[in-house]
Amino acid sequence: MLTGHFVLSSGLHSDRFIQKFRIFEDPPTAEAVCGALAERLKDSRPQVVVAAAIGGVIPGYIVAKALGVRDIFIEKENGVPMLRRGFAIGPGERVAVVEDVMTTGKSTEEIIRVVREQSGEVVAIGAVVKRGRVELPITVTALLDLPLADFPPEECELCKRGVPLQDPGSRRSPSV
Ligand SMILES: [Zn+2]
Repeated sequence: MLTGHFVLSSGLHSDRFIQKFRIFEDPPTAEAVCGALAERLKDSRPQVVVAAAIGGVIPGYIVAKALGVRDIFIEKENGVPMLRRGFAIGPGERVAVVEDVMTTGKSTEEIIRVVREQSGEVVAIGAVVKRGRVELPITVTALLDLPLADFPPEECELCKRGVPLQDPGSRRSPSV
């Protein structure tokens, strides 16, 4: 967890940033963490795991491997989330959506929409970390439920104090 002044992928500002790739870059740690998430999702008996590129690809793969099911992911093309690479979901196929860090749930809503367009059935939503208040039609199973204070930019105290924004999500190495 980093401390500073961050703009999250949701557009909200926060003084905290969860750098999930410190977990995902270490395979044994990633497998332990995402394996524990898989354990919490297995009772919903999914047939396929759907995640969103880029952050969801590694946890999605590990969860799918632990559950013994197919693993596919959604990517954006011209800003529109979709399945590419010949990925498909069969009619009525039971889908577990796997997220890395969930803030507002907006990107999860996009995944649910793509799954439903394919006539799949979302039977579970799993997140490694849920850091915000999320309202979704399906209960979110979060390994770590960590409510953090996130604000719209116009209400951000750090902006008002002129603290410069950092972008750790896409910052180039080795400046990390
Ligand atoms: Zn701010």
